[in-house]
Amino acid sequence: MCGIFAVTECAQAADVVRAGLLALQHRGQESSGIVSSDGEKLHAKAGMGLVWDVFPSFASELLPGRAAAGHVRYSTAGESLLKNAQPLMFGGRHGALAIAHNGNFTNAVALRRELEAKGAIFQSSTDSEVAVHLMARRGPPLERAFIESLRRIEGAYSLILFTPGRVLAARDPLGFRPLVLGRLGRGFVLASETAALDAVKASLVREIDPGEVLILEKGRVRSLKPFAVKKIPARCVFEHVYFARPDSQVFGRNVQAARREMGRQLAREMGGVRADIVVPVPDSGVSAALGFSDVSGVPFEMALVRNHYVTRTFIKPTQTQRESSAAMKLFPVAEALRARRVVLVDDSIVRGTTSRLIVRRVREAGAREIHMAVASPPIVSPCHYGINTPLAKELIAAERKVEAVRKFLEADSLHYLSLGGLLKAAGGSAGEEGFCSGCFTGRYPAPVPADEAGSDRR
Ligand code: SF4
Repeated sequence: MCGIFAVTECAQAADVVRAGLLALQHRGQESSGIVSSDGEKLHAKAGMGLVWDVFPSFASELLPGRAAAGHVRYSTAGESLLKNAQPLMFGGRHGALAIAHNGNFTNAVALRRELEAKGAIFQSSTDSEVAVHLMARRGPPLERAFIESLRRIEGAYSLILFTPGRVLAARDPLGFRPLVLGRLGRGFVLASETAALDAVKASLVREIDPGEVLILEKGRVRSLKPFAVKKIPARCVFEHVYFARPDSQVFGRNVQAARREMGRQLAREMGGVRADIVVPVPDSGVSAALGFSDVSGVPFEMALVRNHYVTRTFIKPTQTQRESSAAMKLFPVAEALRARRVVLVDDSIVRGTTSRLIVRRVREAGAREIHMAVASPPIVSPCHYGINTPLAKELIAAERKVEAVRKFLEADSLHYLSLGGLLKAAGGSAGEEGFCSGCFTGRYPAPVPADEAGSDRR
């Protein structure tokens, strides 16, 4: 998962991008970068760490110009390197350009081999660079080269291509990852989530359609639809489960509303619940726990406190980092838990190790019963489209039945939301169709790499 953001026709554009990236920090915490244009040249800075670490103060002093683009990244272990920090910069027959990408090209390994055999020299190990090398094989005009390169790419992408005079954006034909267009003064804004538009006081124009290419130039926006688009998209339902911010509108639906409905539906599916309190695993379990409390009538209690200075565990690159970060992150409120029957609500269970740690802590704090309620179905398959779920063998539910997972978690009972319930909650009034749910079903809407390790999953 990554976050991308760009702005055009705006004074101190790099500062606006910095503010946008801060609002997208939850989508990637390993590296941050901004590129700006003074109309003739590109200026760039990228580094490892949070936006705040890389850009501790205003960015526009270093990165002048009225247009800028940025990226926050997370990756798998071994790929968390400065050379992979985006936006990646290139020079060539199309002049200076930079690329910022959210998603995963599922045929990147094959394309890279083919390009290397023809003499291409890669500067990073990201799949994103493949798009630029494909472009470099074609002459101007730039927009045709961009579109022709995308024709060869399979998988998931929301992309920004940044040049001194133009900004291009594209979303893959199945629309896996979100990307929205906003308006700020005389200029335009592109962002992974609407929360980033709100952060810079831009207004939402619309979501970019699956398979659409936008060209932002001289204060105008042109839309192209060069790809055959399937009638039913494959929007990532996990954006609604975990990744996106609750205050964002993702795929036309508010994330907080979707998560609350997931909790309501879970309570309906569980039937009558004999418990004293509903306790969320903060932060991503909070909305679902509120919904669970709405329907069950069991009081909501913030009996786990989160240390906000420890960052998201799921997107830490190694298991050891994840576990030590989880141990430092959540603390039980013993007074609220002692002798209580607790429904513990979390958004999802991936490896199960963090959930077991939490169950143990809640029990040590004195809870009498712990009923684990998960606001999504069991995750049984890896993601190949840009969310770094682990390989199948590391997923707790891949080869275990619910009872075996319950035993592993040391909970008194375990309940998952059904797939139908999840899709209904995520779709809202628009309905259950048009989502990818590959990690819950093992049925993928687009080709996946033959090797389970995949290409450079990001
Ligand atoms: S496999 Fe899961 S995480 Fe990946 S795009 Fe599909 S729904 Fe999202």
